[in-house]
Amino acid sequence: AKESGRNNYQFFTTELNVRAQHRYALETNLRRALTEQEFLVYYQPKISLETSRIVGAEALVRWQMPGMGLIPPTEFIPISEEIGLILPLGRWVLEQVCRQTCAWRAHLAPDIVVSVNISPKQFQDPSLCKFIEHTLQETKLPPSALQLEITEGLLMGELDLLLPVFESIKKLGVSISLDDFGTGFSSLSYLQRFPIDNLKIDRSFIHKIPANQDSVVLTHAIIAMAKALGMSVTAEGVENAEQMLFLTDSGCQEMQGFYFSQPLPVEQFEKLLQNNRQL
Ligand code: C2E
Ligand code: CA
Ligand code: CA
Ligand code: CA
Repeated sequence: AKESGRNNYQFFTTELNVRAQHRYALETNLRRALTEQEFLVYYQPKISLETSRIVGAEALVRWQMPGMGLIPPTEFIPISEEIGLILPLGRWVLEQVCRQTCAWRAHLAPDIVVSVNISPKQFQDPSLCKFIEHTLQETKLPPSALQLEITEGLLMGELDLLLPVFESIKKLGVSISLDDFGTGFSSLSYLQRFPIDNLKIDRSFIHKIPANQDSVVLTHAIIAMAKALGMSVTAEGVENAEQMLFLTDSGCQEMQGFYFSQPLPVEQFEKLLQNNRQL
């Protein structure tokens, strides 16, 4: 018993070491990644139910570390937030997206709206709005072509500090979507206080419909609430026809998920736009 206890302990410390080393490697390489141009933006289409066509996309960042393949954002966004890289990285993503969207609007999809994930750290950056304004001017992208996706947790911050940021973003003409909706703690009053244009139903609910009654009830409630408050609704994580049909019947206007398409690199996303394919 003693023997195996020691083995377990050794295994455990080795495992911890491996993880610490992995984290250290990520952190060191992350600091260089931006100047080495190792980040990529993928795009996942958003489909309008009315037309069955692509009306938008969500920009999702990837990290191509040499010799390491494609690293998903769940592995490096939290570290980027901790080491302060999220501000320059977030700006880089915004700029890429504005440029790309402008090109697509000119040649492939005149009305496409692209959304960018904004982490709370970025939202708290006092120069965010100025940067967006500047980037829109520079790229000549109409503000209505850009949407920011923020998470519910952000709304828990100080109202006096947050509200002016929301208002200046709205004043630019950029829209705001509340991501992962239903997983946080926002109440109806929060939704009324902040100028939010779109609710994005979290994929944990979508995943369980139509089998799970609680998820069904919640999804219906979110859609009804959004309508009552004059917001549009997007369902994320739609993976099969059953979910798609349920959401259609429930009056959800916009969907996104593997059922339609994975997030794609630029060239592949462009092929979808070119075909204007009914996904
Ligand atoms: P998110 O904003 O909730 O993005 C949706 C995630 O769900 C994406 O993961 C996407 O690939 C995945 N997804 C899409 N459709 C399906 C589906 O049908 N089934 C399932 N199971 N998953 C689906 P991804 O690309 O790994 O991004 C993870 C998270 O990283 C994002 O979650 C977002 O919070 C963050 N993130 C990504 N790009 C950025 C960025 O540029 N800036 C910031 N601040 N965060 C980002
Ligand atoms: Ca998102
Ligand atoms: Ca989400
Ligand atoms: Ca999420």
